[in-house]
Amino acid sequence: LDTRLDHRFMDLRRPQVRKIFEKKSKALNKIRNYFHQNDFIEIQTPKIIGSATEGGTELFPMEYFGEQAYLAQSPQLYKQMLMATGFNKVFEIDPIFRAEEHDTFRHLNESWSIDGEIAFIDNEEDPMKSLEKMIAKAAEINGYNLDLPLKRLNYDKALEIVQDLGMNLEWGDDLGTEAERKLGEYMKEQKNEITYFIKNYPSEIKPFYIMKDDEISRSFDLDFHGIEISSGGQREHRKEVLKNQINKQDLDPEDFEFYLEAFKYGMPPHGGYGVGLERLIMVILELNNIRETTIFPRDRRRLRP
Ligand code: ATP
Ligand code: MG
Repeated sequence: LDTRLDHRFMDLRRPQVRKIFEKKSKALNKIRNYFHQNDFIEIQTPKIIGSATEGGTELFPMEYFGEQAYLAQSPQLYKQMLMATGFNKVFEIDPIFRAEEHDTFRHLNESWSIDGEIAFIDNEEDPMKSLEKMIAKAAEINGYNLDLPLKRLNYDKALEIVQDLGMNLEWGDDLGTEAERKLGEYMKEQKNEITYFIKNYPSEIKPFYIMKDDEISRSFDLDFHGIEISSGGQREHRKEVLKNQINKQDLDPEDFEFYLEAFKYGMPPHGGYGVGLERLIMVILELNNIRETTIFPRDRRRLRP
């Protein structure tokens, strides 16, 4: 793969390689059609940002006219701010940058994220229903005919399954690559499900902007072939609660002034999701490395071509 990627222009002449990009293009078309048919507005938010947004992920720093800036890891805060403006359904398909020194089959340092956000929801089920429809459309490119609604597993149930499969995890731990893989095998072999939601993760392991009912959060992940392709949830729209959750994660509310201001004059209940485009194409086309799905990948060892 490294040799192929070093001389990608030659590699791309091979029909089976070009096919990946034809299919990716078709999937993007289906995804955009889904959003347009359901009255979402396509937005673009800044990729150069002034404060380290969500915490959790490493950011690429840069200099911005003498000021410290970063490349955006996600459009999260900006798409949420739009929920206070009457843009009730938005989507964005744009790059995200994550500076972790990953060396895995499923991480890139520059990736594209498909983000959706919806206002006036009842609970996390509303964004889940949107996400599964969008994914079902995209999956058609490889002949998948997903049966909706997809199966929903509670975190508690998912944890029990992987514990029974011998994983040494406790309530409150994140599942992680290995547990996700084992759960995926189990779901396929025992339940005939290749894609399913895991919902209601412990509050502790989810970001500050997720709504939390004490120790359980209104969050979800979507797994496909035992690989996480999306995370989402209902967001916390009550300003004071949100501020407390920022404090609790040892982040500084001052860094979030621009974001919190949007919650000041009325913010509707809202929720949404983010899907990694390359991750999605990898699982749908059953490829074993995310680098196959991007023409000129950026990973920790690859800055050229
Ligand atoms: P993971 O646990 O797999 O590293 P994450 O939970 O950190 O992912 P999120 O912040 O939930 O990622 O991002 C939403 C989605 O964006 C993920 O489900 C995944 O599809 C995609 N994604 C996140 N980070 C990367 C990355 N470094 N490379 C490619 N896709 C990514
Ligand atoms: Mg996630």
